[in-house]
Amino acid sequence: MLQAGIVNDSLLCPSARADSPHSAVFGIVDNRGVFPIIRYLERPVPATAEILALTEGEDPSQVFRFTSPCQNGRCGHFRDGECGLPRFLQNHIPASETKPVPCAIRSTCRWFHQLSFDACARCSAIVTSEYAIVGDQLSGPLEGQAPPELPSRSETVSNLIKEE
Ligand code: SF4
Repeated sequence: MLQAGIVNDSLLCPSARADSPHSAVFGIVDNRGVFPIIRYLERPVPATAEILALTEGEDPSQVFRFTSPCQNGRCGHFRDGECGLPRFLQNHIPASETKPVPCAIRSTCRWFHQLSFDACARCSAIVTSEYAIVGDQLSGPLEGQAPPELPSRSETVSNLIKEE
């Protein structure tokens, strides 16, 4: 569901690629815990050559989360006027957050405008390069995990935050 005043063309994809048009980094992959988790930046940073050089040869999507303007019908995930990914993630992986974390792109995020905080609850678990939709199934590190796993992951995240 779109908020009034926000048209489709102004929304941002929260799972873009480094080479997507007008790509910007809005999160960093934190691999210190049991699961990778996205640490959201206070503001997006354009994905310049200098920024991408910080990955030192790694796949940029393993290091950063990128955002770029939603491609709407030009993207294979877009059907019936919306992105299929947030609903797909809602149906296939447990929530990774129990309350919304600050996110710099929320006001124009495609996933948020479709599913509100149900999208945000799973977003921080997504490392773009690690997930793929195969047929009607999601393949990736959290595939098949049940929601009861949630407390242990939340504790891991809490511990990371306390260590900082
Ligand atoms: S789904 Fe939520 S947390 Fe993820 S990018 Fe969109 S607004 Fe931010």
